[in-house]
Amino acid sequence: MARSRPALSGEGNMSAPSIAEFNDPGFKRLINQCIHCGLCLPACPTYAVNGAEMDAPRGRIALMRAAAQGRVGLEDLRSEFAQHIDLCLSCQACQTACPSGVNYSALIETTKLAIEHHRRLRNYLKIS
Ligand code: SF4
Ligand code: SF4
Repeated sequence: MARSRPALSGEGNMSAPSIAEFNDPGFKRLINQCIHCGLCLPACPTYAVNGAEMDAPRGRIALMRAAAQGRVGLEDLRSEFAQHIDLCLSCQACQTACPSGVNYSALIETTKLAIEHHRRLRNYLKIS
């Protein structure tokens, strides 16, 4: 059975710090190309193994959409949000299968870079 989307710490919290990478208009435009059809799911190896929507391209794009809408806080970059993104193999099988031409590789790389950027910043500032 598919797991539901994890709760996000910034959800409903208008004072959650915004994460610059997710505010980019180009990032938001790419996300909006996804029409949620799910035709990419059978192509995704992590979905085949875990069977969880959040470990499939459509679910990961839903997480990115939440981030673009400011519903992902810095804490989420250390928790379930990051785990689902980190698990993506960046194999691009979903991009090939997508009828809507979603540039998934640009989306996942932007998201992984944002997570890594904040990990490094936290380490540099020695924030636990
Ligand atoms: S890049 Fe590969 S592992 Fe990642 S969501 Fe697409 S098909 Fe799945
Ligand atoms: S196939 Fe493309 S449009 Fe359909 S859910 Fe997957 S990424 Fe979105």
